[in-house]
Amino acid sequence: MVLKNYASDPLVSRGRLHIEPGTTNRNAFQRDRDRIIHSSAFRRLEYKTQVFVNHEGDMFRTRLTHSIEVSQIARSIARALECHEDLAETIALAHDLGHTPFGHAGQDALNQCMRDFGGFEHNLQSLRIVDSLEKRYAHCDGLNLMFESREGILKHCSITNAKTLGAIGERFIHKTQPSLEAQIVNIADEIAYINHDIDDGFRSGLLTIDALSSNTLFATCAKEVKGFCSESNGEVFINEVVRRMIHWMVSDLIINSQEHIQNHHPQSTDDVRRMPPLINYTDSMLTQKQQMKTFLRHAMYEHERVAAMTDSAKSTVHQLFQYFMQDESHIPEAFKNQSKDTYPRIVSDYIAGMTDRFAIQLAATIV
Ligand code: MG
Repeated sequence: MVLKNYASDPLVSRGRLHIEPGTTNRNAFQRDRDRIIHSSAFRRLEYKTQVFVNHEGDMFRTRLTHSIEVSQIARSIARALECHEDLAETIALAHDLGHTPFGHAGQDALNQCMRDFGGFEHNLQSLRIVDSLEKRYAHCDGLNLMFESREGILKHCSITNAKTLGAIGERFIHKTQPSLEAQIVNIADEIAYINHDIDDGFRSGLLTIDALSSNTLFATCAKEVKGFCSESNGEVFINEVVRRMIHWMVSDLIINSQEHIQNHHPQSTDDVRRMPPLINYTDSMLTQKQQMKTFLRHAMYEHERVAAMTDSAKSTVHQLFQYFMQDESHIPEAFKNQSKDTYPRIVSDYIAGMTDRFAIQLAATIV
């Protein structure tokens, strides 16, 4: 792998929390990726909502397929910019591990339940999972990942929480940037969900080609597709448009970021962290992307069909939280005993770890 001096390098890493011997066949970022793939939290992403609740249909994205799409896009960008592809893949596969059942609705509800006990934030929960909640090794809790993987996973963090996190929280206090690989994954996440939500939104009947065509980016790509494919082809037409949108967003990002990197000329990852964000779109693409996000919010995320699901998801989370808070014996002994946290935090960890269907089934038994 050819790496620029601004790319993260496992050989000059800030390392793991618990020292471990290295291995000959894989670099440390590859090992991190493999640890994530073998984790229980990763497997559960298969049954967690992206936008549509898991049982609404087998064709829609789940957190797992979303994470795989993010990793594909992130790896392409990392390779083009000569950054560390394995680190980008690791961060992408882990970036949503901390999501509750029922997507953002679940997170909002759990955060509300936890308001007197330190709140709940899915980014911080992703870090909790890899740092302590996964139990796989005899010598330590968590997956004992490299600093750079953990830094990338913690995308946002309040100053209050950052102060409790040691080295990993410092960048939120000093307002510096993470590695380029982490910056790449942040944007790859957005490229993935904008485009797959268009696809899922169309398949679900919430979005039409007409409505989507009010967006500059969609309309520009659709115009090209109309040259050889009729709108009446439905899914195929949408797929042809979406693949072009991904291509244009990724290409714009790569060319613009290459220019930023050249202009700022970082000589090391520490330089990268001190500089302004170097991975970003051109102003024109930024405007088109924002326009699409606003459209998706109104047409899809706030659509009454999605909103009805959101309301029922929130009440399920509230119901489960009350049930566990009423009686400590409702939480499995083994789960309780492995934690040194306060009881409300144990409840929050237990609910956050549930899949959509487990949460629904359990809530149905406690009515
Ligand atoms: Mg995501």
